[in-house]
Order: sequence, then structure tokens, then C-alpha cells
Amino acid sequence: MKYQQEQQNLRIPGPVPCPPEVIKAQTRPLIDHRSEDFAYMLKSLVGRLKRIFLTENDVFILTSSGTGALEASLVNTLSPGDKILAVVTGFFGQRYSDMAKALLIDVQELQFEWGQDVDIEILRKALVAHSDIKAVLVTHNETSTGVTNDLESISRVVKKEFGKLLLVDAVSSLGSVELKTDEWECDVVAAGSQKGLLTPPGLSVISFSQSAWRAYEKSCMPKYYNDLGLFRTFMGLGQTAFTPAISLLYALDKSLELILREGLPSFIGMQRDQAFMIRSKVRSLGLELLSEDRCAAHSVTAVKVPGNVNSDDLVDLLREEFRIVVGRGQGRLKGKLFRVGHIGKVPERDIEDLILALSSALTRVASK
Ligand code: PLP
Repeated sequence: MKYQQEQQNLRIPGPVPCPPEVIKAQTRPLIDHRSEDFAYMLKSLVGRLKRIFLTENDVFILTSSGTGALEASLVNTLSPGDKILAVVTGFFGQRYSDMAKALLIDVQELQFEWGQDVDIEILRKALVAHSDIKAVLVTHNETSTGVTNDLESISRVVKKEFGKLLLVDAVSSLGSVELKTDEWECDVVAAGSQKGLLTPPGLSVISFSQSAWRAYEKSCMPKYYNDLGLFRTFMGLGQTAFTPAISLLYALDKSLELILREGLPSFIGMQRDQAFMIRSKVRSLGLELLSEDRCAAHSVTAVKVPGNVNSDDLVDLLREEFRIVVGRGQGRLKGKLFRVGHIGKVPERDIEDLILALSSALTRVASK
């Protein structure tokens, strides 16, 4: 496949089309990352990120995609052999669990059907059955299925009833879906730049609570590049531990300005309304959605295809003939569905184009 330089209607759940001001901000001249100018920018970025996370906890910016912050959540709080519970509701929950296994953590998996959200009663029973676990891993927004798990209720059980460490994959929820880090007592929340933060890929962000720091003191997991203790030391100097991706930080600086100027509740509310409008338009084509409205993600919608259609053929046709790029089904959902990303404000014209293209492409793929 050749590299596509032409403008596309990019409707995957990240990277998302960034506002032009955000892209342009990256062209600013580079500065010394061990300077007062940089310290000022870093402090301002972290201060505003805390307003997105809704936290007073420490927040760090890492040079990696979201997975780097997820790995940091594990290596900074746990040790090989520690027992944890990984709640899996889809492809990314499974990946978080697999990452923990790769780090020789003793993982008990709590599996839910892909497309369903976490059943709180089943979670409670699992915590009773595995009372010796140290932490619970949860994917707030499962991007592979378009489901948002009820993190507030999950936290009530994990934190208030059982007092376990709560580690959250918020890669596709932060900035798009309500997430109250402190109110919901989330110990570690990890996300990437390329989704709700409307910034190009390459940065990840992580919040770290006091309980997480206590776990850090006991953790003997090997770590270096992702050692948040190093980041904490350097943060005191207004620096990052290692050379930061300065141009991406400029982009993040601009996107935070845009999001906070609009106001986080309004930005999130807009995405909720937009998600339900897209869901309704997709349904009007006779298509079925994987998630129920009750737990529908506001950042991505997973759409089932009729039995006579391979969703990958549909995705290819949309891309090749209509220049509309949607996400494929992942893992066991491959070929069975496609995913429409709608993070940030999607122009109405793009939504209309998508619906028209879908209607035409579906007929063609079905009659192949
Ligand atoms: N977790 C979730 C919920 C995601 O949606 C993604 C990416 O789509 C990841 C983890 C992996 O993030 P990254 O590709 O930024 O490393």
C-alpha cells in the first residue's frame, strides 16, 4: 500500500485529526530542555493536565505512546510475583493483562463478553475470591468494542470496599469521557496524546496518587526509562528525566489551551451528543451497534456488519473509493465489525459523507 498524502476523512479512534493550530504549534523553534523557558512550559502543561485529569496527584508526561504510560503504571507499583486482578472487556483490556504477565506479575483475569461492560457484582465476587490481590487493572473505555466501563462504580468496590490499588487505562477516555481521577480515587491513570488530548501521537500522560507512591517504594520491578521516581526528581527542577519531545509538547500546549478555553465539561458534553447523533444515523442504515446505549463510548462506535459482509472489505472500500478511514475489528472481532472514531469535534459534513459512503459501500460489498 502506498503512503497516502491526500487529505482523508480520518475516522479512526486515534490518532485523531488535530486542530490546525495544534499542528502548526509544532513548528515553533526548539528550546533547551534544561532552561527556565522549558521549566515554565512544563509547569504550565502539568498544571493544565491536572485540570483534565481532575486531580491533585502528580502528573507526568512521558515520551511514548499510551502503552508506555500503561507499562509505567505496572513497573512503578508492582513487583514480579505480585498477584493482581485484570478486568478484561475487550482487546485492550487483554493487552493490559498480557503486559502484566510479560512482567512476571501473577495475573488473575476477570473476563467479560466483548461488547459488554463490567458487571459490578461479578467484580465484587472476584475480589472476595482473590482477597490477596494487590491491584486491579481496568480499561475505562474499551476502544475495541466502543464500551465505557462505569469507573465510578468499579472504584467504589475496588477502593472503598476492598482497598486495592486501582490502575486505569484511560487511553481513549481522557478528554472524551467524564473521568474524575480524585473523586473516584483512581491511583494511576494512563493515557496517550493522540486521542482526547487532540495532539499527534508520541506523548503519554500518567497521574500517580500517594498510595501509588507507597507501592512504588515497595516495587522491585526492574525499570529505568519509565522510572517515575526519576521523573519526580527532575520535575522538581522543572525538567523531564530524559530529552523530551519538545515539538509535541508545543502541540499539547496549544490543544490544552483550546480544550480548556471551551471548558472540559462542555467539550465532553459535545462529544456525548455527537456520539449519540452518529449512533442514530448509523442505526438508520439498518446496522446494529455492538454496545448498548447505556454504556456506549462517546469516543468510538463499534458497528456490526450483516452476516454476508466481511467488515474488512467494507473498511477497504471506504478507504479506497471514498477516502474515509474507519477502524477495523480487532482480535476476535476482526472481520465482524468496523469502528468509527469521533473524538473531538467532527465536522457535520464528515458525518454526512460517512453515512452516504457507508450506505453505498454496504450494498456493493454485500452483492460481491
Ligand atoms: N489502550 C486503549 C484503550 C487504546 O485505545 C489504545 C490504543 O488505541 C491503547 C491502549 C494503546 O495505546 P498506544 O497505541 O497509544 O500505545
